[in-house]
Amino acid sequence: QKLELSTAEKKYPIVIGENAVSSIAPFLQNDLNGFSRLMIMTDQNVGKLHLENLLKQLDEFRPAVFSAPAGEKAKSLEIYEEAITFSLENGLDRKSFIIAFGGGAIGDLAGFVAATFMRGIRFIQVPTTILAHDSSVGGKTGINHHLGKNMIGAFHQPEAVFYDLSFINSLPPHEVRSGFAEVVKHALIGDPDLFDWLRMNVSSLEGVTPMQYEEMLAKGISVKAKIVRQDVHEKGIRAYLNFGHTLGHAIEAEMGYGNITHGEAVMIGMVFALEISKEKSGLDFELDGFKTWIESIGYRTSLSSEISKEGLLKRMKKDKKAIGGTVRFVLLNKIGVPELVELPDSFLKKKLGSFL
Ligand code: NAD
Ligand code: ZN
Repeated sequence: QKLELSTAEKKYPIVIGENAVSSIAPFLQNDLNGFSRLMIMTDQNVGKLHLENLLKQLDEFRPAVFSAPAGEKAKSLEIYEEAITFSLENGLDRKSFIIAFGGGAIGDLAGFVAATFMRGIRFIQVPTTILAHDSSVGGKTGINHHLGKNMIGAFHQPEAVFYDLSFINSLPPHEVRSGFAEVVKHALIGDPDLFDWLRMNVSSLEGVTPMQYEEMLAKGISVKAKIVRQDVHEKGIRAYLNFGHTLGHAIEAEMGYGNITHGEAVMIGMVFALEISKEKSGLDFELDGFKTWIESIGYRTSLSSEISKEGLLKRMKKDKKAIGGTVRFVLLNKIGVPELVELPDSFLKKKLGSFL
C-alpha cells in the first residue's frame, strides 16, 4: 500500500508492505537533486537481525553504518554527539542522506541528527517496530535530557517512509503489545470502522497475519497523517494524538522506564480516559467489554495500589498539555471524535483513587 502525507511545506510517500525495502533503492536513484554520501543509522538489535537484509538492497550506494545502543539509550546527548562525529569522519555533507533503520528511538535520534547536521539534511524512515508506525510519521524528532524525555528536538519531516512488514516478525511480545496499543489509539481517536475491525479480527497478538498488519498499520498511519496534515507544529488538534498519554506518560515515569513499555502504559491511560469520557463527554461505550478484550490479549488495565496517586498527579500536571498547572485531557465524545477538556485536580485525584 502507498499512502501520502502532505503538509503545507512538504509531501512524502509512505510505503507499507511485505517487501517495502525493495522500493528504497529506486527511490534514491530517482532523487532529482542527487545526494552525496548515504548513512544508515540503526541500533544493535536491529543491526544484528536485519541490517544484512537492508544492505543487500543498498549495496550500490556504499552506505556508512552508525550503530547506537538499543532502546532509549540511543536518544542521549552522548550518542547524538557520537553520531555527528561519525558523520563528519565519514564525509557526510549538506547533500548527504540518512536512513533511520529501527524503532521509534532510532527514528527520533536519526531524525534529529538529520534535522541538525549542517543545519539539516534529508532522511528517510525505515521503521522496524509496530510502535514506529506512529513515530516514523509526522516529523517529530528528538533526544532526551537527563531532566526530561524528548526535551531536545526539532520538527523535521522525512523524504519518505518505507515500512517493511517482514521486520516486525522478530519483535518480542511486549514490544508487539507496546505498538498495538497505538494502533488501538488511532482507531479510537479517528477511525470507528478500524476499531470494530480490530475487535472482530484480533483475538491474540500472535495470530495477526501480515495482511492484517498491513491493513491496521495503514489505517493507523492514515489517522495520524490526517491529524498531522492539519496541525504540523502541534498548536491545536495534534494534541489528540496524546489520547491515553497524560496518565500513560506518568505511569511510565513513576514505574521507571523499562519496567513497562510505552504502549502498555498508554493502554492503561486509555482505559482511564475512556472511563472519564463516559462521565464528562457523553461517550457511549461498553468499557467492560473493551477491558475484557485487551486483557485477553495480554494488557493490564489497572495498576497495583503500590503506585502513588500523588506521584502520578504531580507528573500529569507537568504534562506538556497542562496550562498553568491545570491538566488538559484528551477525551472522546464518540469513537473517532476527540476533544480537549480541562480537568481539575480534585476530580482527577478522586478518579485516580477509584481507578487504582
Ligand atoms: P525502540 O526503538 O526502543 O525499540 C524497542 C526495542 O525493540 C529496542 O530494544 C529495539 O532494539 C528492539 N527492536 C526494534 N526493532 C526490532 C525488530 N524488528 N525485532 C526485534 N527487536 C527490535 O522503541 P519503540 O517502541 O519502537 O519506540 C519508542 C520511542 O519512540 C520512544 O523513544 C518514544 O519517545 C518515541 N516516539 C516518538 C514519536 C514521534 O512522533 N517522534 C511518537 C511515539 C513515540
Ligand atoms: Zn505513544
